Parts: sequence; structure tokens; C-alpha cells
Amino acid sequence: LKEPFTHAYNVIDALIQQGFQCYFVGGAVRDLLSGKQVGDIDLATDATPGEMQLIFERTVPIGIEHGTILVLDGEHSFEITTFRTEGMYDDFRHPSHVEFVRDIIEDLSRRDFTINAIAMDRNGELIDPFEGKKDLDNKIIQTVGNAMERFTEDPLRMLRGIRFSSQLGFDIDTYTLDAIKGLNPLLGKVSVERVSVELIKMFQGQSVKNGLSYLNNSNLWLALPVFMESETLIHDVQQKVNRPINSAGTIFAFLHLLQSNFSLKMWAKSYKLSNSIKREASLQIELYNLYIKDGLSSYVLYETKAVHLHPLLSLIELIEGRTYDFNEIQQQYYSLPIKSRDELMITGKDLIDWFPGAKRGKWVGDYMDRIENSILQNQLSNNKEDIRKQVKIWSKQESN
Ligand code: ATP
Ligand code: MG
Repeated sequence: LKEPFTHAYNVIDALIQQGFQCYFVGGAVRDLLSGKQVGDIDLATDATPGEMQLIFERTVPIGIEHGTILVLDGEHSFEITTFRTEGMYDDFRHPSHVEFVRDIIEDLSRRDFTINAIAMDRNGELIDPFEGKKDLDNKIIQTVGNAMERFTEDPLRMLRGIRFSSQLGFDIDTYTLDAIKGLNPLLGKVSVERVSVELIKMFQGQSVKNGLSYLNNSNLWLALPVFMESETLIHDVQQKVNRPINSAGTIFAFLHLLQSNFSLKMWAKSYKLSNSIKREASLQIELYNLYIKDGLSSYVLYETKAVHLHPLLSLIELIEGRTYDFNEIQQQYYSLPIKSRDELMITGKDLIDWFPGAKRGKWVGDYMDRIENSILQNQLSNNKEDIRKQVKIWSKQESN
């Protein structure tokens, strides 16, 4: 094994030395075997959280009731979860009770999809009782065990299946897909926070077209907040989105702009979006509206600023179905004479000084805007003396 798996050797070996088992599980194994970029490393062990806390000095009890603790080792940290089975999800949020077990195969059997139910030991040997490797090779998503039962236990799994089809570009096995078609209303029972996470990851997937087509064909969208209110929205989204939308703010700005009778507020409330996603989405909508009035003018680029340039361009591209040369627009941005008001060579105080006896007031801001604009239009250069002369000319024109 190579990095980042080798980073976990210290903690795995510490458990093994104490007579416990420890395996790599979940997304990291799946991504390694399918040649994708490996994200976080999750580990599973037969040691209980209490036993782990005795073995490791630095731990954080992030989900002790479900058997998960975070173990810190130098600059790395790993989520380690005790082998467990899951009871019923009676509130469709969290399993009502979990039972710790000592057998990895029992733990793998409670996992959602075969491709997520492969364990790997520190030497790279697989434990793959549900033939997840075969499904990875055939690019198939299917549940561990009976799909109807597994989706009834936790209906979020239906959306997770579609999310994985979007991330991996895999097909959903027909039996699993039929179960989604038959059970889709159950998704409405799941907490919307869990739904949001999966929906955002779906839009970010490399094969988002694949995911959206399953979302449409399985009718699972009928159980998604806001989508369910419109006969046409899912279809319009499927038509327009042809590549991943990376930023969560862009996703919701786009959804609002596509069908503007659904306000951003409505999306935010229905999906319980975080303040930072809300803020990002509303800024992008604001910038998009400026763009509608003024195109990609110096003023719009100036208001957009470097960090929001890429999201704004992806938003415009999505909605208008066109493409921009990002580098060219970025170049245009970098050649603006000023990038923010701080860079003006004068302040409001200078303005007041230039008109003896004048008082603070709205006129100061108005002049500042006008100066800023003239400089952006390359009609005025950003030096104090030129600005002073120009302001005097404007003032004379106004008093005539
Ligand atoms: P990602 O790369 O997005 O983190 P992941 O597969 O690691 O993908 P997680 O949500 O982090 O997904 O879950 C880790 C593992 O836990 C999954 O691979 C799966 O084995 C199991 N799992 C997660 N959620 C569920 C669920 N709702 N039902 C059954 N098993 C689940
Ligand atoms: Mg994960």
C-alpha cells in the first residue's frame, strides 16, 4: 500500500498489537480499487470505543454512541468505528440502537452498497463477502442484500445510490433501481440535513448527467423538497447541467435562477442550508443580475473580485449554455486599473479638504462612486492631482 493508507499504519499496528483487528473500509477502499482520488481514510475495528480510548492518547469522541472516535496521530487523524450492526432507523435519522460485534463480515453486511462494503487489511488483502470488487469492475451499484429492505431501513440510501452513480459514472443495477422507483416517497421521512449533503455531492459528481438522469427516471425527485413542487424543474436541470457544479452556493443560485418563482429563501429553508452557503448563493445571484444588466464589463468584474470570478462564470455558462475562456476573463480582471476602493489614491477626507467650508454628506459618496467608475472606464487615472482636477471640473459643471 501507498500513501495515504500508510499514514494509518501507526494506529492500525497499535490496535493489532493489543490483539484487535483493524481494516480500511468505506470510500477509501472503493476509491483506491476504482483508481479515483482517495479522500478521508475510515477504519473499522473490533475494539470498543472504551478500549480505543485506553490504547490511544489523543482521541475525540465524535460519535461514541455509534462507535466512532477520532484518533489523532501526529499530523494525521482517522475516524475509527467499532464493528457494529444497525437496528431499525425508527426516526429515519439515526439507527435507534447499534450493537457492537466482533466480526468484520457482520459489519460489512450493514453497509449500503456492495462497492462500499469491502474491507482491506494493512497489507492490501481484501475482505469482500458481497463481491464489491466485481461490481466495481463492472461499474454497477447495488445494495448489500435485499434492496427493498435496505431502502426501507434507511431511505437516504436511495439518494446515496444516485449520488454514487454521479460520482463514479456507474449504472444502478435494475433490481436496486426498481426498488428506488417503488419506494421513493420514503425519502420524505429522512431528515433534510442528510438529504442536503447527498444532493450537493450529487451535483458535484464527475458524471452528474448520469446522476440526474437516474434522479429523473427513478422519480426520486418527487420526494425532494422544492423539486417536487414543479413538473418541469427536474427536466430543466437535467437539460442544463452537463458538468459538475463544484460550489454549493452555485448549485442553489443556479436552481433559483432556473425557476425564479422559487426564491433562494425557499431553497435555503427547505434544505436547511448553512449561512455560508446562503451567503455565497445570494452573492452569486446578485453578481449574475449585475451581469445581466452590464455584461462582463469592467464594473461587473470589479464587483465580482478574483475569488468569485470562477463561480460566476460557471453560473453564467450553466444558465446560458455557453462557454467562456476563463483565462481571458481573468486576464481582463487583472488588468483593471484598480481592484478595490482601497486602491484609490484619495479618500473622502481629501474631497472635503478640497472644498473649504464643505461638510460631510451624501455628496462625498456620490463623488467617490463617480471617481471609481471613471478610473475603471480608463477615463481618469488614479493619481491624486488628476482626480482633484477632475472633481473641480465636475463641481463647476454642476454649479452651472
Ligand atoms: P465519501 O467519499 O463521500 O466520504 P463514503 O463512501 O466514505 O464516501 P460516507 O458517507 O463517508 O461515504 O460513509 C462511509 C461508509 O459508511 C460508506 O462507504 C458505507 O459503507 C457506510 N455508510 C454510510 N452511510 C450509510 C448508510 N446510510 N447506510 C449504510 N451504510 C452507510
Ligand atoms: Mg467517507
